[in-house]
Amino acid sequence: MQIARPRGTRDILPEEALRWRQIEDLIHHLCRLYGYGEIRTPVFEATELFLRGVGEATDIVEKEMYTFQSKGQRGRSLTLRPEGTAPVARAYLENNLHARPQPVKLYYFGPMFRYDRPQAGRYRQFHQFGAEVLGTDHPAADAEVIALAMAFFKALGLDGLQLQLNSIGCPLCRPVMREKLVEYFSVRVAECCPDCRQRFSRNPLRLLDCKEKVCREVGSQAPNPVDCLCPGCGEHFRQVRRYLDLMRLPYTLNPRLVRGLDYYTKTAFEIIVPGAGAQDAVGGGGRYDGLMQAIGGRAVPGVGFALGLERTLRLMEKQSASPEVPGPTVFVASAGETQDVVTKLVGDLRAAGLAADRDYMGRGLRAQMRYAQKLKAAYVLLAGEEELQRGRVILRDMQTGEQKEIRLEDAVNVLRAVAGK
Ligand code: AMP
Repeated sequence: MQIARPRGTRDILPEEALRWRQIEDLIHHLCRLYGYGEIRTPVFEATELFLRGVGEATDIVEKEMYTFQSKGQRGRSLTLRPEGTAPVARAYLENNLHARPQPVKLYYFGPMFRYDRPQAGRYRQFHQFGAEVLGTDHPAADAEVIALAMAFFKALGLDGLQLQLNSIGCPLCRPVMREKLVEYFSVRVAECCPDCRQRFSRNPLRLLDCKEKVCREVGSQAPNPVDCLCPGCGEHFRQVRRYLDLMRLPYTLNPRLVRGLDYYTKTAFEIIVPGAGAQDAVGGGGRYDGLMQAIGGRAVPGVGFALGLERTLRLMEKQSASPEVPGPTVFVASAGETQDVVTKLVGDLRAAGLAADRDYMGRGLRAQMRYAQKLKAAYVLLAGEEELQRGRVILRDMQTGEQKEIRLEDAVNVLRAVAGK
């Protein structure tokens, strides 16, 4: 019998792999812009990390972990990572990253594993891009990670995504929230789905975001977590919203948004595709000031997100979206016997860290300009014989159409200055 791939996994064939590579390139590019450094953690970790770091009363820990016994006599229990935040937090503590200037801003990209019923948009091996800011509880950090996530989707050319926002408070306000929710649900929980009936005693907050229709109805009049926030959490939430407004990032308040994981505090957000059904979330995140202590470390605040890339790709296909591929910073166009100068100039520009390109097909000057436009070059350096004899080239800004003559020997520095390098 022919052997098939395991359920809930996919093969990525060359055509699709190209897309993946574009997405990965964009991730690295954007994270550099935002000042995040890449971290790569193991694909499996001690099971304990997820029990404590994700929380026992979550679907992930209750039903979805791929756990196995390591070899050796005292074979430890290991688990294929179902998410990236707890491993990043562990790595922060284990590698003493708190000794570095704070905050530490990290991002990751890689496969995650959850044993779940496979269906459209839900796999057992899937990929996430995540980012975390560790070591600050400043509300502008919450806004920054949200801005990074939204910039990612925008750069992929995706439309119509909605940012949903909520605050679920801290250990100070949680008991008040809990008490109100217990009071509300205790007389109604019998009508809820079996999962919610179980969750009720352990984590009544979770009943708010159950996707089952019956639970939504039961919970429709439930108290709002934001009404129970302590003054500190209330102020934090106001500031996060103010920073989002400043960055012109629209959001919708969703008091039902609590996220599945136990370690979240304060800000919770999700990015959804309205009307896409059960698998409508392409990503989500929030603040997790309690995580580091939960896994045995010092108290270090953190905020971050995880975006699902299979769902992102599916959405791109649906919307026929294509990522913005940045063109070269500068295209060197030339006419006449200028090949030596062009070759040297392109080499010098590249050596200075500028993306530069040129013509190899013997195109005329006009055709070279059209070609530069097609490549989406930001600037063109025109090296005509006549200008070169005077030691000059023409610099053209392709967006504004402005042109000026500059000295050939200054070309690299001028380009560096205008391109901000
Ligand atoms: P979570 O870590 O559960 O907040 O998930 C973050 C994002 O990862 C979700 O919004 C989804 O886009 C994606 N995701 C989570 N679970 C799966 C899965 N089983 N299959 C595919 N994508 C997933």
